[in-house]
Amino acid sequence: MPELPEVETVRRGLEPVMEGARFEAVEARRRDLRWPLPKDFAARLEGQTVTGLGRRAKYLLADLSSGEVLLMHLGMSGSFRVFRDGNQRAPGQYYHERAQHLAHDHVVFRMSSGALITFNDPRRFGSMKLVPRAKLEEEPLLRALGPEPLGNAFDAAMLARACKGKKTSLKAALSDQRVVAGLGNIYVCEALHRARLSPKRRASTIALRSGAPNDKAARLVDAIKAVLQDAIKAGGSSLRDHKQTNGELGLFQHNFRVYDREGARCVTPGCTGTIRRMVQGGRSTFFCPVCQR
Ligand SMILES: [Zn+2]
Repeated sequence: MPELPEVETVRRGLEPVMEGARFEAVEARRRDLRWPLPKDFAARLEGQTVTGLGRRAKYLLADLSSGEVLLMHLGMSGSFRVFRDGNQRAPGQYYHERAQHLAHDHVVFRMSSGALITFNDPRRFGSMKLVPRAKLEEEPLLRALGPEPLGNAFDAAMLARACKGKKTSLKAALSDQRVVAGLGNIYVCEALHRARLSPKRRASTIALRSGAPNDKAARLVDAIKAVLQDAIKAGGSSLRDHKQTNGELGLFQHNFRVYDREGARCVTPGCTGTIRRMVQGGRSTFFCPVCQR
């Protein structure tokens, strides 16, 4: 499933061909993705200019000149391809194979920038929704989301406040979208390893009794930001020479320190541990039992 860094890389890949461009033609080849497409989907997009392309957690938000916002989510297997000047580009491929079956090209945007943008989604867990900009705050899909991990508002004090008194594990707390938005299994594992904190540790232990952060909260916030920034950077660099649509795996997977490395040596300098896997909340957690405490 695409995680936040991949979605951000997709955003950066689409920005130059969408921002400031007008939807000249919109083709919806089916009525539904995960949910039905909005009523009069094509008619509400055609003729509108994208005034900005943003991201909230794993949602892409295209602001339209009509005052509506096009919310797009990649789901489990969604991806965009961009065709322009005879070139084809697929922004943001990290670690899953890209479907190239044209039968799964469900939505096609022809933009005034000259780009043809297709949304491909074999499993159809992706979604597109139109919401008035003024009502975005009340949008159920976004309303419950916690802070953006790369935003300035997300700091040790905020994370400690959210974890204060929580009896769940740190892994569960960080996976909770109300605590911090957009972190998935992979980056939670990676961030905990970088912060040298055990995924089993009780979430409340990163806060003092008053709710103020301790040094663990600070370490964890730094690790979360660093791991996401590194992943975006790796995605960005693979983007430049990314011409084909599938088969090529992204670069960041080679940089995982614990994820999918069960049985491998821990890469923490001076640590002699071996990466282990356990199941927490139905998902695999990868960690080093020696340096993560
Ligand atoms: Zn270790």
